[in-house]
Amino acid sequence: MKRIATVSLAGCFGCHMSLLDIDERIIDLMKLVEFDRTPLNDLKSFTRRCDIGLIEGSCCNEENVATLREFRRQCDTLVGVGQCAIMGGLPVMRNAIMHSDDPLLECLEEAYLNSRLVYNPTNDMPNDPALPLLLDKVYICSQVVKIDYVIPGCPPSGDLLWSVLTALINGTPITTPPGGVKYD
Ligand code: SF4
Repeated sequence: MKRIATVSLAGCFGCHMSLLDIDERIIDLMKLVEFDRTPLNDLKSFTRRCDIGLIEGSCCNEENVATLREFRRQCDTLVGVGQCAIMGGLPVMRNAIMHSDDPLLECLEEAYLNSRLVYNPTNDMPNDPALPLLLDKVYICSQVVKIDYVIPGCPPSGDLLWSVLTALINGTPITTPPGGVKYD
């Protein structure tokens, strides 16, 4: 039986929700695979090496990078799921903020101090030492590790996820289902 691990880096969990859109086929999936580390079972570390790792989201902080590298080490096949993993999606929009000498500070000040939608009477910015360090910019997964396959969409449809997953599990050619790639 194949083992699958999944993770959400800088993503919204929409791609994970889409996995649940395979509906009753999830029963068939459970006959084909065991889930290792994944938010679906709340397992936060690998119990053993996996055949397939599904990555949602891109890398915006040091924890994302460490997690992605661990997935690369622990998974035979690594799959980028959704636009955030493949192209950066919404998180990568912060890379467009680069008007000053310190784009990261400018981005934080926009988010927590300067935006007209912000209510922050203390002018505090997140500074808890437990918070992972932000990267200078957002990096897509393939800029950090080798990605073997990508499943495009925002989120990819349940049908597309099912099609790719069963092909990878069974070692058969990947086909695009009717409806193809969608961006909701
Ligand atoms: Fe969410 Fe879309 Fe990014 Fe998936 S690709 S994590 S659904 S924003």
